[in-house]
Amino acid sequence: MTNTKYLKSINEEAFSLLMGEECKLKGSGGYLMASISEEQKKKADLGVGELFLAPVGRIPEESITSYFCNNCNQEFKSSPKVSYENPNEEVAENMKLAEKGMYLCTNCESSIGEYREFQKS
Ligand SMILES: [Zn+2]
Repeated sequence: MTNTKYLKSINEEAFSLLMGEECKLKGSGGYLMASISEEQKKKADLGVGELFLAPVGRIPEESITSYFCNNCNQEFKSSPKVSYENPNEEVAENMKLAEKGMYLCTNCESSIGEYREFQKS
């Protein structure tokens, strides 16, 4: 059965899921407004009614529309600078720290939030 109209609406749905919706993600020094996927949103949701940056992993700069820096007490309509490294260090048996990084305010260089990405080895 081929129904192109049906297929098109499925594609649009998949597209919007892929692009995600804009969410507020809290870090230790402010927050980001970014488009994240449903899967990332689940990771960010620690069950206290807010979304957190740390468990999501690196969010590409093009997905970040704005951020708030607590140190500057100001909102910026751009992405903070993402600084990261890939230590690949063994933190437990069968588990390594694949990447750690932070989002830095482009104005004052203080950290908006940090993240860690673990990988089973
Ligand atoms: Zn700042």
